[in-house]
Amino acid sequence: MQIRKLSELLVNQIAAGEVIERPASVLKELVENSIDAGATRITVELEQGGIERISIADDGHGIAPEQMTLALTPHATSKIQQAEDLDRIGTMGFRGEALASIASISRLSITSRSADAAEGRIIEAHGEHVGQPRPIGCPIGTTIEVKNLFFNTPARRKFLRTSTTEQTRCLEWLRDLAMANPAIGVRCIGDGKVKLDLPINQTPRQRVVSIIGKELEDQLIEVSVDRFNDTRGILVWGLVGLPAIARATSKAQHVFLNGRTIRDRTIQHAIREAYRGLIEPGKHPTAVLMIEMSPTAVDVNVHPAKLEVRFRDQSMVHRAIYHGVKDALGRADVTPTVFQRLPGVGMDSSTAIMPGLSPQQVQEQQEHQLNHQVDRLVEYLEAKPANTSTEPGTNTPPPDIRSELKEVLARTPINSFSSQPNFAPSPATIHEQIGELPKVQRIEQVLQVHSSYLISQDEHGVLIIDQHALHERVMFNKLLARVMGNGSLEQQALLMPIVLDVSSTLIDRFDELDALLERIGVQCAPMGPKAVGVHAVPSFLHSRNVAAEPFLNELFEKIDHGGFVPTSEEALHEVLDMMSCKAAIKAGDVLSDNELAAIMQLRQEHERSGSCPHGRPTTVRLTIEELEKLFDRR
Ligand code: ADP
Ligand code: MG
Repeated sequence: MQIRKLSELLVNQIAAGEVIERPASVLKELVENSIDAGATRITVELEQGGIERISIADDGHGIAPEQMTLALTPHATSKIQQAEDLDRIGTMGFRGEALASIASISRLSITSRSADAAEGRIIEAHGEHVGQPRPIGCPIGTTIEVKNLFFNTPARRKFLRTSTTEQTRCLEWLRDLAMANPAIGVRCIGDGKVKLDLPINQTPRQRVVSIIGKELEDQLIEVSVDRFNDTRGILVWGLVGLPAIARATSKAQHVFLNGRTIRDRTIQHAIREAYRGLIEPGKHPTAVLMIEMSPTAVDVNVHPAKLEVRFRDQSMVHRAIYHGVKDALGRADVTPTVFQRLPGVGMDSSTAIMPGLSPQQVQEQQEHQLNHQVDRLVEYLEAKPANTSTEPGTNTPPPDIRSELKEVLARTPINSFSSQPNFAPSPATIHEQIGELPKVQRIEQVLQVHSSYLISQDEHGVLIIDQHALHERVMFNKLLARVMGNGSLEQQALLMPIVLDVSSTLIDRFDELDALLERIGVQCAPMGPKAVGVHAVPSFLHSRNVAAEPFLNELFEKIDHGGFVPTSEEALHEVLDMMSCKAAIKAGDVLSDNELAAIMQLRQEHERSGSCPHGRPTTVRLTIEELEKLFDRR
C-alpha cells in the first residue's frame, strides 16, 4: 500500500467526525461562535430537528468582508494566536475547525456584516466547494445556515434518529448554552413553532428558573461557595433541588465551568455524596451549578467537543462542591409532605404525571419518550449481528418497523413515567418546607402507634415518624461523627475469639480490609486459609445487644461479592449504615415514655434526621393545607 496525503476534504470530514455527530453538535458550535462574537440576541431555527436545516442568527460583531473566506479555512481562528493562549482560554471556541468541518459535510452559507463595513457579504460552501464572497445587504451580525447535514456522508446520516429526538437534543444543548449566558436573549423556532423564548438580561437565577420551570422555583435551594483568590480557588453559584424533586435520570443536572457545559465524574460524585441519605439510590438530584475557576487551573483542551476537562486540583473541586451543596441542603427543611409521598392524592391527573407541565407539554413529552423508545429499539435491532450478511447497514429494519414499534409501544405503559415525581404540591406547602428545620414544640406530646410510628406536631402540621428509620439515622450520624473525630469506634475485647468461615479470596485481600475494620472497632486476623478470628467487636453493638457474628458475616460477604471497595470513604458509610440498621430499635418495639422523649430529643439535635441513611424518609409531614383538603375545608 502506498502512503498518500489525504485530500483537504477528507481531512475536514475526519475532523467533523470528531465534533459533529448530529444536528445538536452543529447547533452547539454555531451558538458558541455567536456567544464569542458578543451577541446579545441569538435566534435559532430548526427544520426536522436540524437534519434538514439549522439557521443561527446573531447580532454580534460580525465578520469583516475580507475575512469571510478565512472563516471557512481549517485551523483559522481569531481567538488564539500562540500556544500560551491555550492556558487561558476565555472563548468557547479556539481550534478554528468548526466552520470548515461543518461546510465539508453540509451545504453551508454565512451571511455577515461587521460594524465598520458598509454592506455585508454572503459566502456559500458545500463539500469540497467553497464559493466567493458576494456583497449582500444585511444588519450587523452573522447568520449561518446549514442545510442537508451529512448529504455526502450517508453512513453518518444513517445514525441520525427521528427528527423529534434530534430536535430534543438540539434544545437540550440550547438550554444549557442559554443557562450559562443569562444576559443573551435566546429564541428557538422548530418547524415553525416557538420552542424557547428567553428575554435578554436575565439574572442567572431568573434564567435557570425560566428553563427548568417556574413551578419548581420554591423547591430550589441556593448554593454558593467563594474560595477564590487571585488565580487560585473556586467560585460556585447554583440552585439545587429538594430531595422531593430528584429524578430517575441525571438529565436535570447541569454543570458549567467558566460558562461551558461539562460532564465531570468528580463533580457528579460530589453532588451525589452531598445528597447521601437524602434521596434513594438510583435517583438523581436536580442541580444547576456554575463553577468559575482561573483558566490556568483547568485544561479544557482534552476532549474534541470540550465536554470533559482536567482539573489541576481535583480534590479541591470535589470538596468545594460537596460542602457547598451539603451546607445548602443542611439549611433547608427536607421533610417531605404526605401528598408528596403518595402520588396522585388530592391532585388532578394532568399535573400528577409531571409537575408543572401543561397538558400539551405532557403530550409532547410522551410523544418524545415514545420516539426515544423507538430509537432505542431500532438502535438495538441495527446493532444485532446480521445472520446472513456482515456488510453494515444491510440489516437495517424496514422503515415501517418504526411506525409498527411505535404503535405497539403506545399501547404499553412507559414505565419511566412512573419514576417521575408524581406530584405537584401547592406553593404554600412547598414554601414552608424550605424554612428552618421543624422544631417539635412540646416533645412530651408524642404518641407511639402500632409500636412502629411516632406521631407529633410542628408549626406546619402533623409529623409522622418511622421509629426504626429515625433511630437508624440518628445512630448513623453519631457513629460517623465519632469515627471522624476519634478515628475509630471503641472496641470491646472478647475473652474467646469468634471464628468465622470466609472465602480464600477474602483472606487474600485481608490487608485491604484492615484499616476499615480498625475504624469500626473490629479486631480480627486470618486463622488459616479460610477462617477469620474476631478478637474484639464494636462496644456499641455489644451494648445494644447486637450479635457481632451475623453482622460480620454479612460484611465479609458484601466485600467478597464486590459490594464495595473497602478502602473507599463510601465503604465506611456503608458499614456504619449496616451497623446502625442492626442496632436501631425495630418496628414493633414498644417504647417507654422516657425512650420516646429521648428519641425525639435526638431527632432535634441531628442534622438530616429527615431521611434514613438509605434515603427513605424518617419523617413525613401532613401539612395543615393537606388536612384541610382531605376534610374538604378548601
Ligand atoms: P473557532 O470558533 O474555534 O475560532 P470556527 O471555525 O468556529 O473556529 O470559526 C472560525 C472563525 O470564524 C472564528 O474564529 C471567528 O473569527 C469567525 N466566526 C465564526 N462564527 C462567527 C459569528 N457568529 N460571528 C462572528 N465571527 C464568527
Ligand atoms: Mg467555533
